[in-house]
Amino acid sequence: MLITVLQILVVLIFLVLLITIVFKITRKGRFVDPLPDHFPDLLEEHVDFYRNLSIEDKKNFEERLRQFYHDVRITGIKTEVEDLDQVLIGAAAVIPVFAFREWEYVNLQEILLYPGAFSRDFDLTGYHRNITGMVGTGPLQNEMLLSRQALRQGFSDRESKSNAAIHEFAHLIDKTDGALDGVPEVLLQEQGVEDWKKWMQITLQSMRNGESDIDLYGLTNTAEFFAVVSEYFFKRPDLFSQKHPELFSMMERIYFLKLQGGHLN
Ligand SMILES: [Zn+2]
Repeated sequence: MLITVLQILVVLIFLVLLITIVFKITRKGRFVDPLPDHFPDLLEEHVDFYRNLSIEDKKNFEERLRQFYHDVRITGIKTEVEDLDQVLIGAAAVIPVFAFREWEYVNLQEILLYPGAFSRDFDLTGYHRNITGMVGTGPLQNEMLLSRQALRQGFSDRESKSNAAIHEFAHLIDKTDGALDGVPEVLLQEQGVEDWKKWMQITLQSMRNGESDIDLYGLTNTAEFFAVVSEYFFKRPDLFSQKHPELFSMMERIYFLKLQGGHLN
């Protein structure tokens, strides 16, 4: 009788261990549940978009962040991922799709965080250390590469129109429909696609004419244009709406957010 009870106990303990191990393997993120207590404070201090939200929207934002960490792994390359990096990456992921409650980055599994800029062959010390972020292709499909330096600067330099991490997430959103072409069809109705293409061409022309304050890197191609204006839109909505009112309305249609006056309303 005693042996039977012991045997059952051993089997039970084994089963519990097995379930725990399998559960841990299938969970990808570092933080799953709940969000660490100090993350809202880090958001409040470093992320303007979050700071300007209502209390209710802040709770939504935190929940979206928690979900993002569940879905996507963040790995440091020759560096440790600090809590602030974790918070800023999550914020850059959530901000552009904040209006789309069910959004999931289906084309992203892992983010590789580098201490600084890297070259195209991921050499950290070579001559062409000019890349601050990229969305992987080929063997790096479903991966995003980011420089910590650029990530942090994107949030700390509040006057600039750039944010490297938001730039890369805008590429992922653009790519969701299968084409990295600057036309995020997944977020736009048919008429919206036509209107967007029209405003894109008008703005590109003014950039070529030297009449625009938009970063000229956006002239590289339409995908870069979309990523560059997305950074500007989320980083300096106040300035964007003053300088480019029509394009601003178009961006509000794409991202389904009202950012007039720089606040979500
Ligand atoms: Zn880009």
